[in-house]
Amino acid sequence: MTDVLTPVQRRLNMSRIRGKDTEPEMLLRRGLHARGFRFRLHRRDLPGRPDLVFPHFHAVIFVNGCFWHGHDCPMFKLPATRPEFWAAKIGSNRTRDALALESLSKEGWRSLVVWECMLRGPARLPVDEVVSLVIKWLECE
Ligand SMILES: [Zn+2]
Repeated sequence: MTDVLTPVQRRLNMSRIRGKDTEPEMLLRRGLHARGFRFRLHRRDLPGRPDLVFPHFHAVIFVNGCFWHGHDCPMFKLPATRPEFWAAKIGSNRTRDALALESLSKEGWRSLVVWECMLRGPARLPVDEVVSLVIKWLECE
């Protein structure tokens, strides 16, 4: 699913974000738009309501917040207060994410997850670089 992006695969797996129109999502949207790509947003009729939908490529992209989706990265830290509540909550988010990816795949969609930490925080990559990786992925089939 994410083979072309192996070097950054760890930060590109899994599923979706809770809020809409987050900063990392906007960065990616603007970058793709500037490079001539057009897409639909948050299509409710698809599993997991993907953030970006490219019907022509039969591909969807989720931009996932590292906290809400429990990314295994330095940006994820369980809160000190009520850690078991948060662990359960984030665990169920991850389960839902995995189910959405599975359903999308069964319906013939390719899915890509771009993690927040690729676009924000100390380990972020230049936006143009992320956009190029995403375009490469979109066009790989
Ligand atoms: Zn992360």
